[in-house]
Amino acid sequence: MKFPYEKFRKGQKESINRISKYLGDFIVLKAPTGFGKTIVAILSHSNADKVLYVVRTINEIAPVIRELRRASINYTFIFSGKKMCPLLKGSDVDPDDFWVNCKVLRSRRLCPYYERLSNVNIDDVVKVINESSIDPREIVNNLVSKLSVCPFFMLTKLIPRSQFVVATYPYLFREDVYRTAFSDELEEFYFIIDEAHTILNPQSIYEEELSDGDINQAFKEARMYSLGSEVISFLRGLIDVVGKIRSRMLKKVEKALIYPGEGFLQILEDAIIDIRLKRLKEFLESPESLIRISTKLTKILKFLYIIKNPNFEVYGISDAYGKRIKALPISYEPIRDRLKMAKGVLMMSGTMPPKPIIDKILGRESQYIDVESDYGEVFPQHHTYYAVYAETTSSYHRRGTYMYSKYAELIVKVYEVLMRGIILTVYPSYQFMNEVVSNIDVGISQVIEDPYTSLSEVLSKALSYSKAVIHAVAGGKVTEGIEIVDPVSGKSLISTVIIAGVPYPQPDDYVRDLRKNLVKEFGRELASKLVMDIPAIIRVLQAIGRAVRSERDRVFIILADRRFLSKELKNLLNIRYDLVTTDLKTLTKHIELFIKGFL
Ligand code: SF4
Repeated sequence: MKFPYEKFRKGQKESINRISKYLGDFIVLKAPTGFGKTIVAILSHSNADKVLYVVRTINEIAPVIRELRRASINYTFIFSGKKMCPLLKGSDVDPDDFWVNCKVLRSRRLCPYYERLSNVNIDDVVKVINESSIDPREIVNNLVSKLSVCPFFMLTKLIPRSQFVVATYPYLFREDVYRTAFSDELEEFYFIIDEAHTILNPQSIYEEELSDGDINQAFKEARMYSLGSEVISFLRGLIDVVGKIRSRMLKKVEKALIYPGEGFLQILEDAIIDIRLKRLKEFLESPESLIRISTKLTKILKFLYIIKNPNFEVYGISDAYGKRIKALPISYEPIRDRLKMAKGVLMMSGTMPPKPIIDKILGRESQYIDVESDYGEVFPQHHTYYAVYAETTSSYHRRGTYMYSKYAELIVKVYEVLMRGIILTVYPSYQFMNEVVSNIDVGISQVIEDPYTSLSEVLSKALSYSKAVIHAVAGGKVTEGIEIVDPVSGKSLISTVIIAGVPYPQPDDYVRDLRKNLVKEFGRELASKLVMDIPAIIRVLQAIGRAVRSERDRVFIILADRRFLSKELKNLLNIRYDLVTTDLKTLTKHIELFIKGFL
């Protein structure tokens, strides 16, 4: 297959050849942002008959569509059926309720969009897709406005005739979600997993949550529909357990206090059917009303099914979002089980841990391609300058007013040195960030991320200043997703990144249980690495990746924690430190020299 660009970037051709050769194995492709991983992944699978290419978010589908079009490969894509449904128009319904409602509508032939599917010519569908932009939401809207069909079932109808299916993560990692779209077995597919470092954090893939609001609502419904005493007393018990949660960090809740046993699940299922039948009568069978039928009991039932699995435990938290319980995985088993089914797996990321660690997690030897170490740096090193500022640390033992003011001083001095641009400052937690920010006592232009901030808000506020500090939390929305580039030149506007403390996960009960469980499989040393060091390093590299978007970007990176000098973190980071200092003047001098192009 022809390469659709003028020339290959360093390592692209070699990577395509190596991946094609190993197809069928577990392959890792470690390459930085800007290398062109997507086209490499696509072309190396050009002889594979069926490929499931998974991405984390809907927005990440668009670049894959762009490259598939360039390579002239047949494709379809899917994301949440609920989000695509034109009857629902964005209303909030539990996904399980949504699928039952959709099934009822289809079986009663009440959904006009579904009914039209058989009247539509597939060539017309392909034409609408190809004439739309690469934005998957626009394609979905066009399928509705131009053909009046159900976009979800139209796009899944294309699966048998498509070489590539681009989908969001749940379609690979969750059997229940997979089954809503696919009739073929998972074994038919080669998997390509984008941002594959995510699988090292099983919590981000399988987290399920119940809030006190959900449970109270379910209790109200149970009383309103006069469900049996067993359901009512179970919910009363649940309200009691969640009501007692006080901890601001995840704290273990004994499963026995929540899980009522297998027999009760059937009782709950019957109760849900009961409610649904009563609601059906209320809703007068209008498709728009019927698709919205929902009961919080469905969410509770799903939660109970998840914690039935011995790989999941329950944790409670009480924070700005309210009181909640979470079902979280304490092993890699659910992920490994899915990956084992593939014809072959390609895992891609700019921040993949080293091969020995990946092999242990996968339980088999991978073919590991590290583009920069195998073929040379994709972006010349002189564009990034790494300084360790060893005067500060976010270590729990050293936290206090003195340390917070040291971080505040660092941020202000860096701000003063810069003429323009964005300083992205990344903290281990909101609490730590707020302490530091409260110590900044001079007027600077700043944007502070909070749990409710949207990316677009951060972006528009930051762009309204010629220079600004963005305060963000490692692993949060900003560091995982923001791209601040000059619309004309395409260059990154983030000129400096300050990693304000090693962003280790909080030492809560979940982290402790995960480590305890992993020790059995991997031993103490590797388990600690997997639970603490590797997530911290991935967060650091992700934050740096926000600033380095193209080969023209020049970024000064300050690793502001003396623990970055430890052998473990240095080895995992695998970057050269250009400067190590405890002197703020020396640091700012080097920033000035870097800006002037002398470094
Ligand atoms: S079949 Fe109808 S109800 Fe179901 S997703 Fe499609 S449009 Fe929505």
